Amino acid sequence: MSATQAPDAGAEVTAGLPDPDEAGISAPRTTEGPGERDRPLKAAPAEPSTPCAWAMAQLSEAARSLRLDEGTIQLLATPRREFTVSVPVRRDDGRIEVLTGFRVQHNLARGPAKGGIRYHPAVDLDEIRALAMWMTWKCALIGVPYGGGKGGIRLDPSAYSGPELERITRRYASEMVPITGPETDIPAPDVGTDEQTMAWFMDTFSTHRGHTVPGSVTGKPLSLGGSHGRRGATSRGVLHATLAALREASLDVRGRTVAVQGFGKVGAPAALYLHRQGCRVVAVSDVQGGTHNALGLAVDDLVAYYEGGANPLAGYPGGDHITNEELLGLDVDVLVPAALEGAIHGGNADAVRARFVVEGANGPTTPEADAVLNGNNTIVVPDILANAGGVAVSYFEWVQGLQAYYWTELQVDNRLRTLMFRAYDEVSAVAAERRVPLRTAAHMIAVGRVAEAERARGLYP
Ligand code: NAD
Repeated sequence: MSATQAPDAGAEVTAGLPDPDEAGISAPRTTEGPGERDRPLKAAPAEPSTPCAWAMAQLSEAARSLRLDEGTIQLLATPRREFTVSVPVRRDDGRIEVLTGFRVQHNLARGPAKGGIRYHPAVDLDEIRALAMWMTWKCALIGVPYGGGKGGIRLDPSAYSGPELERITRRYASEMVPITGPETDIPAPDVGTDEQTMAWFMDTFSTHRGHTVPGSVTGKPLSLGGSHGRRGATSRGVLHATLAALREASLDVRGRTVAVQGFGKVGAPAALYLHRQGCRVVAVSDVQGGTHNALGLAVDDLVAYYEGGANPLAGYPGGDHITNEELLGLDVDVLVPAALEGAIHGGNADAVRARFVVEGANGPTTPEADAVLNGNNTIVVPDILANAGGVAVSYFEWVQGLQAYYWTELQVDNRLRTLMFRAYDEVSAVAAERRVPLRTAAHMIAVGRVAEAERARGLYP
């Protein structure tokens, strides 16, 4: 969505999707200028739409099933607050460069905004808006007292030195001080950011406040009040979601074949945990391509190998090179897309042969692809359920920080497992009762909870 087309572009951005107008939904307005630049890593040529349009289509479907009134739908479709900030940085060679940063607080009815910060060259307001909306639903679905938020800076982090990234993060954080905080909006890591980013953010925030504020971010290092178990939490959640889906299908986890797209903070540990549960992980990939071994990859060895090399997966001696597109079409039991939005789209969904797609990434399946997968009887465990382990343990970290009382790794893991299985069971029960896919059921539960919170609070003034 660009600034020139945004105000009246509802029909355009939702072309080919379930009819949002029928449910009273139009795409929100944007004030952003250079947002629709090249999106080189998001290949969905056959579907001229954006993550925000996909999120709107999902909301539309849930709202229709819940028979929400038009005003409530508009309330849920519209971000509460959107910020676009300039982030000037002095490069190591003395040049000044001005980057663009964003933060969207989608809905605050159930609590403060919660959501990651992304550093990626394709970040724009449309993407951040969609990610913030998905966070609202995710937090409501798993029952943590947050609304949804998301932020990001449009940059390629690999093109900047460590000191440059620190200056960028601190400048962005200083712009966020008035609008974030433990009671208003709590950032966390996402694509291209990590514990160190959160440490810089928290230090900048705390310096402005004049005292240490551990609850200002989650996903921070243990030495600053991070939580045990947060680092692998999203991936453990992916594991629990996979186990729950296999259990429901009366399938043993041992020997199940798995392919994982994306080998970052979510994908790599997810591959490792599934491998350790007895799955045969036959392929993994990152942005440069992947490695495949039909007999199963030695994932512990691969992770150690990956952490040491420059172009590692392609050259891994324990497997053969495979492209991302080939990986998505492998005949496996479980496919875990754990990279970016739109990986499975109208142009390649029919090639997916996995019986289960467990969405580690946010928005990896477009609505058009979703329809194809449903038609092929592929069970899709949706992102707002499958990758909710991250925000679940972020919530645990926030609670620990507010109380200055810290839990053991075992306590964190047990609570996460209980929460993930309970959420899966709730979604699965609604899916069975209403005869809808897991994604629709998950959105119905989540959207219904946020709508109820809006209703109970009423409209001010
Ligand atoms: P990351 O930056 O650590 O890793 C991203 C991985 O995706 C990298 O291996 C990268 O090479 C790969 N990748 C990027 N573009 C690709 C492409 N076109 N094809 C194949 N691989 C590609 O990011 P992350 O934190 O692991 O996040 C991955 C996804 O999970 C995102 O959608 C993110 O929003 C979602 N998520 C992350 C968390 C979290 O706690 N980090 C929580 C919930 C959801």
